[in-house]
Amino acid sequence: MHMLGRWVAQIYSHTSWVVGHIINGIYPSYCVECKVLVEADHVICVLCKKMIQPIATRTLVEGTHKISVYAASLYDGPLQKLVRQKNHGGMYSSMQLGRLVVELVDCERIAPDLLVPIPLHWRKKAKRGFNQAEIIGKAVAKKLSIPLVECIIRIKDTKPQHELTRLERIANLEGAFAINPKYQNTMSDLIKDKHITIIDDQVTSGATINAMARHFFKYKPARISVISACRK
Ligand SMILES: [Zn+2]
Repeated sequence: MHMLGRWVAQIYSHTSWVVGHIINGIYPSYCVECKVLVEADHVICVLCKKMIQPIATRTLVEGTHKISVYAASLYDGPLQKLVRQKNHGGMYSSMQLGRLVVELVDCERIAPDLLVPIPLHWRKKAKRGFNQAEIIGKAVAKKLSIPLVECIIRIKDTKPQHELTRLERIANLEGAFAINPKYQNTMSDLIKDKHITIIDDQVTSGATINAMARHFFKYKPARISVISACRK
């Protein structure tokens, strides 16, 4: 009876914790890696967070330009799990990813003026219901109080880069991006002398970033960088 009482008390305490959070409009949080209950608004427990190793900045080269890629982690562990959820309707996972990026990447030090998410083709976005890069971008924009602008659109429904050979990857990205007609007349004001940060969920070869960055250079930005959840 004593044991039963303790179980009931434990179940009650767990239930009231969850109910309390729902009442407060906060989704109950479980660690994305080991599933233990975590503090409201947290994505990952303290122990699993310690396993995410910070990684060095990677530099991409596009012509005479250098593009720094700042990522929260390598493409493994909890971040990889969250990135992959986008293929299974995981919008909540994308929001968690955004919170982790804000926590793990020193966005203040990178100090962008403007964020631009890697766009999805409208067909893919309609099918998936959201753009993971845009959701991560919203979290960064909120943290830094700077705008997130979809000034680049994807006009070609490209194949996933990882399914292709090196040459096929280049052809796949040919003509993939264009200036959003909505910003055609304001691109110069938006980009000139500004630090533009492209937001992505995973950077692999960097070819997608380079293809998108090419659209910015003619407007003479001060700098182009990338904030990504993971990278290879
Ligand atoms: Zn954990």
